[in-house]
Amino acid sequence: MHPDRTMKPGRPAALDSDPESGIESGIESGLASGSDSDLDSGPDSGSIAAPDPAPILNTRADYIGLLPEARQVACSNWDDRPDGMLAELLVIHNISLPPQEFGGPWIEALFQNRLDPNAHPYFANIAGVRLSSHLLIRRDGELIQFVDLRKRAWHAGRSCFEGRNACNDFSIGIELEGADCIPFMEAQYRRLASVTIEIMRRFPAITRERITGHSDIAPGRKTDPGPAFDWKQYLALLDQQMKTAGLPSAPADPCR
Ligand SMILES: [Zn+2]
Repeated sequence: MHPDRTMKPGRPAALDSDPESGIESGIESGLASGSDSDLDSGPDSGSIAAPDPAPILNTRADYIGLLPEARQVACSNWDDRPDGMLAELLVIHNISLPPQEFGGPWIEALFQNRLDPNAHPYFANIAGVRLSSHLLIRRDGELIQFVDLRKRAWHAGRSCFEGRNACNDFSIGIELEGADCIPFMEAQYRRLASVTIEIMRRFPAITRERITGHSDIAPGRKTDPGPAFDWKQYLALLDQQMKTAGLPSAPADPCR
């Protein structure tokens, strides 16, 4: 993701339901398509929350929304999907903070609204913008979950998939720690494939054909996951794992 630089620190980012607002929120530009009040609807709103403990999967609903293999990190940047809507699209992104630097605590800090604008010159542009993604895969393959998969994370921004706008409403976002033109790690591809299988099991509408990149749903505005993201490698791993998992396979996408 190459952040747009027109955002202003210290303000909630623009709502993507308002394409006339002219405000691009930048780094994942992903804001909810709800009202302003929706931005504060998260359970941890208004405080810097400590990381959640590992999830206790007591219910079917928890099973669907929380991935036990992920480290759960508290995040208030989410809201409810529109009534009755389930995830039916998977959107792949990349993120790095500062840009093209890996391994720091800054992505988590951004998604927890505690990014220090003074810690790096770049951060002044984005501190105060409220963004999230359901999942983040670090360079070593670690999986981090910020938002329950049943809820709407703010990752896609103004977007359109097959004629349908506001992809946050019906998608799950996965960030890979990386940059458009820097090769991703083998561990990331492996983790991405395995977590895709888990998501497909929970949300059967997400088929192999309904996996897309941010740049595909926000062309001209977003470039991630970028040319360094090897779709062939990812989809080959996914196909292998789908077969093992007994998930219905699909013909190869001729576009990739
Ligand atoms: Zn993105």
